Amino acid sequence: MSKTEKLYYQDAYLRTFTAHVVAVRTLNGHTAVALDRTAFYPTGGGQPNDTGSLAGLRVIDALAEDDLVWHVLQAGQAGASKAGASNAGAPDAGALDPAALSGAAEMTGVLDWERRFDHMQQHTGQHVLSEAFIQFGNAHTVAFHLGSGAVTIDLDRSDLTHADLAAVEAAANAVIDRALPVKAAFVTNAELAKLPLRKQPAVAGAVRIVEVAGYDWSACGGTHLVNTAQIGLIKIIASERRGAELRIAFLCGGRARADYARLQGLAEGLVARFTTGQDEALGAVDRLVEEAKAIRKDLAALEGEWAESTAAAWWAEALPIGAWRVVSRVVEYPVERARRVAQVLKARPGTLIFLGVRAERPQLLFGRADDVTLNAGELLKAAAAAGGGRGGGRPEWAQGGVPSAEGLEVALAAALARVKQVAR
Ligand SMILES: [Zn+2]
Repeated sequence: MSKTEKLYYQDAYLRTFTAHVVAVRTLNGHTAVALDRTAFYPTGGGQPNDTGSLAGLRVIDALAEDDLVWHVLQAGQAGASKAGASNAGAPDAGALDPAALSGAAEMTGVLDWERRFDHMQQHTGQHVLSEAFIQFGNAHTVAFHLGSGAVTIDLDRSDLTHADLAAVEAAANAVIDRALPVKAAFVTNAELAKLPLRKQPAVAGAVRIVEVAGYDWSACGGTHLVNTAQIGLIKIIASERRGAELRIAFLCGGRARADYARLQGLAEGLVARFTTGQDEALGAVDRLVEEAKAIRKDLAALEGEWAESTAAAWWAEALPIGAWRVVSRVVEYPVERARRVAQVLKARPGTLIFLGVRAERPQLLFGRADDVTLNAGELLKAAAAAGGGRGGGRPEWAQGGVPSAEGLEVALAAALARVKQVAR
């Protein structure tokens, strides 16, 4: 049974290596290659896989299975069938030819170093931060997630305050400042028993221990920096209670620097909009919010007054038909305002209201005072139909729409005719 020698265990900084193919298979339509040795880290222990190239072919995933590390190749790469050998063959547009790969000579693997180094910064940063949480408040890490965005750990304590998090962050960054060496080695069970492990390992047999010198020991199969200084920076960016646990989102090194640049852009945008200094920006936002509140209050009062006086003016021009006064007009206000005036008019005994609102979608608003026996819903239904539209509602209030402004006039005329007929 062949196995893959894990070069990343001896040297996490190895980015280029040579190896031979020991097995080839198809995995979800992709050709996957197992090598006798590799620097590609396969997904595991919370750390995502490496990507890169193998004999010039794109490697999009790496995964461990038993003792082998499989390198998943991107489909449809030209010349793949002769990988590592001569490139005289026809371009291959489909899946790679496994048989040709397995016969290939020694091939060169190259990691996407930026991606791997980022993973090392986040992962070593996580070890330091997790230990800082234990030292601060005996808060143990029960889960770790390294995604493409934020990195998270879940703590078994949810009662930490913002001040606590700031203290832990400061302690973790102090470990960066001390530039402590980081070493990884396989130890026997006897040696393991003597180590102050952060967490008991789940695996049996020889265990790989990652040590942040004199600070933290944990069982881990990941790739790590040579010393804590290379973490650069640990920044907690969010915390979220999840039952009895606390999820901490943080960024290390390059990710933290990129986030700083993003936040600086945000701050500069705010400052430019308010033409103020950064320290005054929050005050400017507060003033704007207060101002908007006051304006909304003023506007509501003015709209109330406007609705009252507009209703009085319309009522003065209302048509007396039988025992009723009918307010029938086409208006060009926003429909909310027209509705508001109608509501005021409804409070006047004997009043019938037929409003046509000119808008992109012309609307009909019909209403009546409580003492009027006519059914506004039925009136609107018939009137809207006459105007080529549709609508309806309750006896005291109804709404509808017609396709055009002319339709509004036709609908109102139909409603008026109907009222005259009933009043006779
Ligand atoms: Zn780890």
